[in-house]
Amino acid sequence: MSDKRIHRKCAAKACCNNDCNKNITFFRFPQDKDRAILWAKAVDRYDLIVNAEKLYNSHRLCIDHFEEKYFLNDLRNRLMPNAVPSISLTKSSTAHIEEIEENEIGINKYLYTSNADYIKMV
Ligand SMILES: [Zn+2]
Repeated sequence: MSDKRIHRKCAAKACCNNDCNKNITFFRFPQDKDRAILWAKAVDRYDLIVNAEKLYNSHRLCIDHFEEKYFLNDLRNRLMPNAVPSISLTKSSTAHIEEIEENEIGINKYLYTSNADYIKMV
């Protein structure tokens, strides 16, 4: 897990945009901790909240998550100070995301099985 890799990938959970997608613009997380938390929640990355004050340096979001009204210019490379990602992408084809989803399903199955066993025993 290198820092470079983190820098080059959109932080949104269900997004697979990276620097390989030409002409994709990335935006750093806000330096303000509270606003960084807002961004993390908006893209379903609650795991990032604990490091909210570091996200400015470590994570970026791609242009796909921002509504037209939040751009300051026609080039769409500057965001308004109050911009919040509001467009969430639901599909992803990256192996990394699939791996996480499989793990979550696995945990759910395990909990469910445990409960069922427990109920049977009682
Ligand atoms: Zn993205």
